[in-house]
Amino acid sequence: MSRNPVAPGHAVQAHINLNSLRYNLDQVRQRAPKSRVLAVIKANAYGHGLIRVANALEGADAFAVARLEEAAQLRSAGIQKPIVLLEGVQDVQSLAMASSLSCQIVVHSEYQLDLLCLSPELKTPALKTPVDVWLKLDTGMHRLGLSPDSFPHVWQSLKENSAVAENIRLMTHLACADELNHPATNKQLALFREITNGIDAERSIANSAAILSWPDAYSEPNQAWVRPGVMLYGVSPFAGKTADEQGLKPVMTLSSSLIGVNLCKKGDAIGYGGIWECPEDMPVGIVAIGYGDGYPRHVDEGTPVLLNGKRVPIVGRVSMDMITVDLRNQPSAQVGDPVILWGEGLPVEEVAQHAGTIAYELLCQVTSRVAFVDSKIED
Ligand SMILES: *Cc1c(COP(=O)(O)O)cnc(C)c1O
Repeated sequence: MSRNPVAPGHAVQAHINLNSLRYNLDQVRQRAPKSRVLAVIKANAYGHGLIRVANALEGADAFAVARLEEAAQLRSAGIQKPIVLLEGVQDVQSLAMASSLSCQIVVHSEYQLDLLCLSPELKTPALKTPVDVWLKLDTGMHRLGLSPDSFPHVWQSLKENSAVAENIRLMTHLACADELNHPATNKQLALFREITNGIDAERSIANSAAILSWPDAYSEPNQAWVRPGVMLYGVSPFAGKTADEQGLKPVMTLSSSLIGVNLCKKGDAIGYGGIWECPEDMPVGIVAIGYGDGYPRHVDEGTPVLLNGKRVPIVGRVSMDMITVDLRNQPSAQVGDPVILWGEGLPVEEVAQHAGTIAYELLCQVTSRVAFVDSKIED
């Protein structure tokens, strides 16, 4: 990481390594060579920047987002790939908009069937061309998806609906794929197989955790699509298994710098609440990053940051704009020295663990005060 800020005037920067993003997509391809890739870029591409990521992932077969407004942003930016709306649509206006944006919709509840079955007068302005549908079965997550009981009749009525394009696809979502021995996953896979048995349609089951650990979720010939999210961003979905071990490279590196060094005395209390006291005379560093940038306030004492490429522990509370670090193992550190909060050299998963959360949340939480800097793509 360079010492000089690449975005001058911005204390905190998120470097987005687009080469690593593409590398991780290649890893998906290597694991699931027969599948097409529905790259999940919801929630601002897990905080990495929706349009930047969509442009860099031109090798994906299609994109998935949660919400219509995300799809609208993609289309406004000129992205022409197929887009799947994972939460589908909730009313006729949204259906019309989804159709005008050429989105494919997930049908996960019976009320959505009603939207597609409205009277022709209502339907005509809404749908000029039939809409592509992914029919979602709830195999045990009990979030979105049709129950196994209602699935057959919804499937039948979608097939007969002229507002629905011909090749309806089938999907389900796994609740526990990130736990390598969890019995729920095989149960979900078996139920999906049972309920969809005999239906001639493309299928999609696997999220990142399944791509990495449950080949049964994508290796059958009709399991045409995988849906990687977090692994594209170089993050391991498994507790206690690093991305590095999975052959993934971190995409976001969050960095800042040292803006102060205090020579504190034994017994000095550091920061709000004075919760940490210096056990001896020692240097304490001030780093320009805080929860106002999206750094988690609830990291525990000793959470590492990389100062000049070497770990130093956080002491005292995280404030809105600053954190304080123990400089006893880098007494010669100076104002301006570079600090990495997570990313290359320090996995975001590790910081998340110190914050009692998952990497997904930390990545999504980086705020608009942070300058996003793309690293160049070298082909
Ligand atoms: C978010 C999401 C994914 C991607 O999950 P990861 O764990 O990030 O790979 C896949 N499918 C659905 C339905 C999702 O909502």
